[in-house]
Amino acid sequence: GVLRGFSTAAAIEEPIQPPVQVNHTQLLINGQFVDSASGRTFPTLDPRTGELIAHVAEGDAEDVNRAVVAARKAFDEGPWPKMTGYQRSCILYRFADLIEKHNDEIAALETWDNGKPYEQAAKAEIPTVARLMRYYAGWADKIHGLIVPADSPHHVQVLHEPIGVAGQIIPWNFPLLMFAWKVGPALACGNTIVLKTAEQTPLSALLVSKLFHEAGLPDGVLNVISGFGPTAGAALASHMDVDKLAFTGSTDTGKIVLELAARSNLKPVTLELGGKSPIIVMDDANIDQAVEVAHFALFFNQGQCCCAGSRTFVHERVYDEFVEKAKARALKRVVGDPFRKGVEQGPQIDEEQFNKVLRYIKSGVDSGATLVTGGDRIGSKGYYIQPTIFSDVEDEMKIAKEEIFGPVQSILKFKDVNEVIQRANASRYGLAAGVFTCNLNTANTLMRALRAGTIWINCYDVFDAAIPFGGYKMSGNGREKGIDSLKNYLQVKAVVTPLKNPAWL
Ligand code: NAD
Repeated sequence: GVLRGFSTAAAIEEPIQPPVQVNHTQLLINGQFVDSASGRTFPTLDPRTGELIAHVAEGDAEDVNRAVVAARKAFDEGPWPKMTGYQRSCILYRFADLIEKHNDEIAALETWDNGKPYEQAAKAEIPTVARLMRYYAGWADKIHGLIVPADSPHHVQVLHEPIGVAGQIIPWNFPLLMFAWKVGPALACGNTIVLKTAEQTPLSALLVSKLFHEAGLPDGVLNVISGFGPTAGAALASHMDVDKLAFTGSTDTGKIVLELAARSNLKPVTLELGGKSPIIVMDDANIDQAVEVAHFALFFNQGQCCCAGSRTFVHERVYDEFVEKAKARALKRVVGDPFRKGVEQGPQIDEEQFNKVLRYIKSGVDSGATLVTGGDRIGSKGYYIQPTIFSDVEDEMKIAKEEIFGPVQSILKFKDVNEVIQRANASRYGLAAGVFTCNLNTANTLMRALRAGTIWINCYDVFDAAIPFGGYKMSGNGREKGIDSLKNYLQVKAVVTPLKNPAWL
C-alpha cells in the first residue's frame, strides 16, 4: 500500500486500470469527427507500461488543408467573428462549466496518456483549464479599439479585429493546459483555429473539443488535428491561408516553424520554447523553504516543465546544508503509478524522453559532477526514473547548459551576487528564474538583473490566468496569458476620415 521513497519498484509493476474510456480518436474537422484522408492511424501509448492505449487518426497535409478550409469558411462566412463579444463569452463560460462537470474523466484521460499524477491533474490542472476559460470569457466582451487624436482635423479610429485563422501547435507535457493557453485568447478575440496536438498526447483535446461544441461553439471554429510534427505540424506552419501561428515546444522546432512561416505567407509567429532556468539561493534565505520549493521547481511534472528550475545556484556558506536537505527530500519523493493516491511522480512521457534523460545522467557522471542520489530507472517496464541530484555541477557541463526535461536537479555553488547574476544570465535561454533571500535589497537587485520572462521571489511555479508567461532570448517571443496574450490574436486597423468634408454635408 503506502509508497515511501522511490525504491518500491513493486508498486509500479501492476498498473491500475484507468477509470475512463477512450471515446474520441478521430480528427475534429468542421464540427465532425472524421478519419484521416489517408486512413492511417498511429498508436498512443501508456507511459506506465509502453503499451497501447488507442489508435488515433493520423492527420497529414491533406487533413490540415481540410481543417484550414473549414476554419477559413467559419471565419469569413460564419457567425463566430461577427457575434458580439458577450455571445462568445457565454459559450466560453458554458465550456468552462462542462470542463468542471467532466473534471475527473478528463483528468483520468490526461493521466493515462501523459503519466502525470492523477491527483495533480484532477485537483489543479483541469480546474485551471476551466479557470483560464472563464478568464478569457471575461475578456471577450471587453476587447475594443481606440479613438486617437490627430494633428490634422481628422477623426481617427483604431479598430482591434480578430486576425483570422490561427494555427496552433502544442507539446505533450501539459496537453490541456497548453490547449487552454492557446485557444482561450484566440477564441475570445473572435478567431477560428486549427490546432495540432502533440503525437504523444492526442486524447484529451479531442474530448474537450467535443464538449466545446456542446457548449455552443459553431462548427469549423475549432478544428483539432492529431498527427506528427514534420507532416501535420509543418503543413500548418506553412499553410498560405493560416493568418497566425502559435507554437509551444522545443527551441529547435521553434526555428523550423518560424522558417516555414517566413517562407510561406509571413504569418506572425509567437513562440514558447525551452529553458534552463536558474534558481538562486542566498545565504540569508530560509533554507528549508528554499529546499522544498527548489525541489518542486525541478521535479514537478516529472521534470518536464519548460520553466523547470534546472540550475540551482546555492551560496557557498549554505551549500553543504542545502545539498544534504535536497537529498533527503528527493529520497522521500513518492514515485509510482500516477493513478495511485499520494504519488508525486509518475513515468516520463515516452521511451525517447526516458532514454534522453538517462543519457544526460550518464553525461553528468562522466563530466565529474557528484551523483548525490538517484541516477537509474525504476522497475523494468514503463518510463520511471529515480529523482536524481547532482552536486558540484560546473557551468560548462552539458547538464548545466542543455535542457534535460527530466527529474534531474543540478546544484551549483557561488560566492557573491555579482558572480551569480553573470552566471545565471550566461544562457541562451531566458524563460524564468527563482530567487531565495530574506534581504529586500538583494531581491530587488536580482529581480532587475536577471534576464527572464518570469522572476519568482521566495516561490516558484506560481501561475495565474492574469500573469503573462513567456521567454527572453531563445526561450521564445510573445506572451501567453494575461492581457498581453490578446495582442497575439488581434489585427489593428486605422480608420481615418476628415472631420469636415463636403461628402458629409
Ligand atoms: P517538440 O518541439 O518536438 O514538439 C512540440 C510540438 O511541435 C509537437 O506538437 C510536435 O509534433 C510539433 N513539431 C515537431 N516537429 C515539427 C515540425 N518540423 N514542424 C511543425 N511542428 C513540429 O517538443 P517536445 O519535445 O514535444 O516538447 C518539449 C519541449 O517543449 C521542451 O523543450 C520544452 O521546454 C518546450 N516547452 C515549452 C513551453 C513554454 O511555454 N515555453 C511549454 C511546454 C514545453
